[in-house]
Amino acid sequence: MYLALYRKWRPQTFSDVRGQDHITAVLKSQAAGGRISHAYLFCGSRGTGKTTTAKILAKAANCLDLQDGDPCNRCESCRAIDAGSTPDVLEIDAASNNSVENIRDLREEVVYPPSMLKKRVYIIDEVHMLSTSAFNALLKTLEEPPAHVIFILATTELHAIPATILSRCLRFEFTRISDEVIRERLVMVAKEEAIELTDEAAALLARLADGALRDALSLLESCAAAAGSGPLDAAAVRRQLGVSDDGSAAALLGALLKKDLPAALRTVDELHRQSKNIQVFIEDVLELLRYLLIRKSAPAQPDEAPPLSVPKEALEKLRVLCEQATVGELMRCAAAFEDVQGRIGRYASNRRTLLSLTVIRLCDPRLANDVSALEARITELERRVASLAAAPVQSAPMQASAQAPEPAVQTPEAVPAPPPAPQPPPQPEVKAALFSRSAELLEALQGHKNLYSFLSLSRIVEQGDALKVYTDYLGKNIMSTDGAKKLIADAAAAVTGRRFTVEITEKAPEQEHPSLIYELQEAAEHESQIT
Ligand SMILES: [Zn+2]
Repeated sequence: MYLALYRKWRPQTFSDVRGQDHITAVLKSQAAGGRISHAYLFCGSRGTGKTTTAKILAKAANCLDLQDGDPCNRCESCRAIDAGSTPDVLEIDAASNNSVENIRDLREEVVYPPSMLKKRVYIIDEVHMLSTSAFNALLKTLEEPPAHVIFILATTELHAIPATILSRCLRFEFTRISDEVIRERLVMVAKEEAIELTDEAAALLARLADGALRDALSLLESCAAAAGSGPLDAAAVRRQLGVSDDGSAAALLGALLKKDLPAALRTVDELHRQSKNIQVFIEDVLELLRYLLIRKSAPAQPDEAPPLSVPKEALEKLRVLCEQATVGELMRCAAAFEDVQGRIGRYASNRRTLLSLTVIRLCDPRLANDVSALEARITELERRVASLAAAPVQSAPMQASAQAPEPAVQTPEAVPAPPPAPQPPPQPEVKAALFSRSAELLEALQGHKNLYSFLSLSRIVEQGDALKVYTDYLGKNIMSTDGAKKLIADAAAAVTGRRFTVEITEKAPEQEHPSLIYELQEAAEHESQIT
């Protein structure tokens, strides 16, 4: 019979459970001493071993030949529980049996002694899904449990469990399993299953499993099936699971440190085009930043292992760039990516836009108003002052532009006032131009999910006092309401200090409709050609 890897390698004894020693040690000693409690609550994130441990506990409570607290897995009781052939161990999924009737049935049933085992064990998974009345019914049973019954409740959402239930259960919190423990288990299982798994691939799978051993084994299985007979290396894992190609995190970071917006946006675009996992990509970037920061802040430290996602050549280039960057700049990048990581979880539909906006802000510190952005601007100014001080002065103060920083050494005499800025020639007509503060406008509207989505895909043009939004049919419907227009006008006023009238226009479908990101990219390219 075919068994999924995670089922086949499911631990059979407390000693076999990985990464939860603080729990299994207690349960084992309770079982050995015959002190198993009437009600347990196992909480913790998915894939951390809650139901596996519950099954082992059910066996330990009934085993006829207990081995120092661990079930023997050979006796009649153990085998019946493993085969699922005894009516005395019941696994109930509260997600599908959440009504009060289900729990009432259970209450009527618990009074009868078990039919073949010593104890009747109820394992109620996802117990937080029970309705309030079902919880109340369960509570009555937990208040006076018959001696032959054990309840094991499992949940991922501890906060959703009523306090009255909590107070009647022995609670155990399952922690996320460390990458290292998962990696070791993967290597062991791969060896037993004759899967040729490279160390790098094992480490990558462990990281992708995000603390859930069950997920790690499922990932291993699907990758091994796709890889066929060849060795399973990191490249194959990345291909199979849609994780970004080697080096794209380094490419993005390199572009950001050089303030090369078009290149940075191209990287984001490429990720999107290849449908890569943006969340894993952001983790790659953060891991890389962490590595660079450690190297930069503590160069004397013994060499930290470089991140797996970066090929050696890319890392070398990045180290050179990193020499020119300040710790503050790297910290600012890290903070921005951490921020977008949190937001991407909440607004799944805008991943690419959110990442693009982060990239735009990081390339142009003027677009952010927080303290770290201010620091970035000061760093940039200091750099310019330093280069000015180093370069010979070519022009007299009279001719210096009003924006040039003041010379470091000043004469006591008053510096003559700069000449007034030349008056712009009168405009024959108000010209339309791309609205230059779209990114800030979008940021101000982030709380309005629909509006934000459609606006981010629109072309925004400024003409005199009018703000013209060119969008598609759906966008026009969403944004043409008075309320939506007022929101946009208010946000634009907050950003620019000017009052605009907002016009929403639908572009004919056959017309080219470039998104804001492309517009900004074009604008940046245009600007870099001028300067
Ligand atoms: Zn046994």
